[in-house]
Amino acid sequence: MRPLPLLRLLAPALVAVATAGAAFERPSENERLGAIGNRYEEPEFVRELFRPDADFPPIATPRRGDWLMFHREPGQTFDEYRAAGFARADEQRRLIYLLPLGEFPADDAPSLARLRDYAAAFFQAEVRVLPAYFPHDLEFDPRENEFTHKRQRLTRAILGWLHARLPADALCLLAVTMDDLYPDKEWNFVFGQASLEDRVGVYSFARYDPAFFDEKRGPAWRDTALRRAGKILTHETAHMFGLYHCIYFDCVMNGANSLAESDAQPLHACPVCLRKLQHALRFDPVRRYRELHAFYRDRQWFEDADWVARQLKRVPVPALGRPE
Ligand SMILES: [Zn+2]
Ligand SMILES: [Zn+2]
Repeated sequence: MRPLPLLRLLAPALVAVATAGAAFERPSENERLGAIGNRYEEPEFVRELFRPDADFPPIATPRRGDWLMFHREPGQTFDEYRAAGFARADEQRRLIYLLPLGEFPADDAPSLARLRDYAAAFFQAEVRVLPAYFPHDLEFDPRENEFTHKRQRLTRAILGWLHARLPADALCLLAVTMDDLYPDKEWNFVFGQASLEDRVGVYSFARYDPAFFDEKRGPAWRDTALRRAGKILTHETAHMFGLYHCIYFDCVMNGANSLAESDAQPLHACPVCLRKLQHALRFDPVRRYRELHAFYRDRQWFEDADWVARQLKRVPVPALGRPE
């Protein structure tokens, strides 16, 4: 098994300086299919959902400034993933914990109940929101950011604190905060940071609110903020199950160098990443799509709901069984 890195959602300017020059070659169709692996190992009723149809476009050629212009991503096929032997959900470890750090004011923050419901549908796991922890003023090495003049806390300090509090039945423990974050003193900020080995992470939703940048909130800002928070939460949590960045299809597991790049990426997992998630969490993909469909419909995210509905239509009827 490869050593697991500390993952950071990077501040774009620093990424550009650190790693410019990587060239990305898009995988061929055969490589994409190879990355999914042998679908015929799967029960008949899920096999179809791992077949890439027109709703899974191959990953686009990266444009100037995109993640893949700066990062040499090795890719990770399903077979490589399975062989690496990452921890899977089982009777002992089956819960995803969300820990609010500080205030989540209803007027300014994404709803924790909705994020919980979304993560529960996406991962088909129980997601539990822990009582909020309110750090005192000097906790987690706070500083004032020189550009925004807002308070930031140090991710590393938070990760260490979380590690000591990882519940025995946790798949992972994720702190979420409306405070801005920084990973060390040379950096301007990070959206979040996770330790795969320790199964803890911390993510800030501060920068999803236009008011953070003293910009006017548009009519849909709250919905956009929830969507962004849901996307980051699922992307980062999937990293904790050992999923690398996806280089095969348009996918929620594509790397993103900026909010704009992340916004352009889908909420759904491609067949390669869906199969990995299914392996890690042992869920029923049909039931998962049904629950995601209900969530998207309730949020009036109709494009996403329609996308899921098309996937469900592919499942042979009747499909009431469950994968092992
Ligand atoms: Zn990532
Ligand atoms: Zn993918």
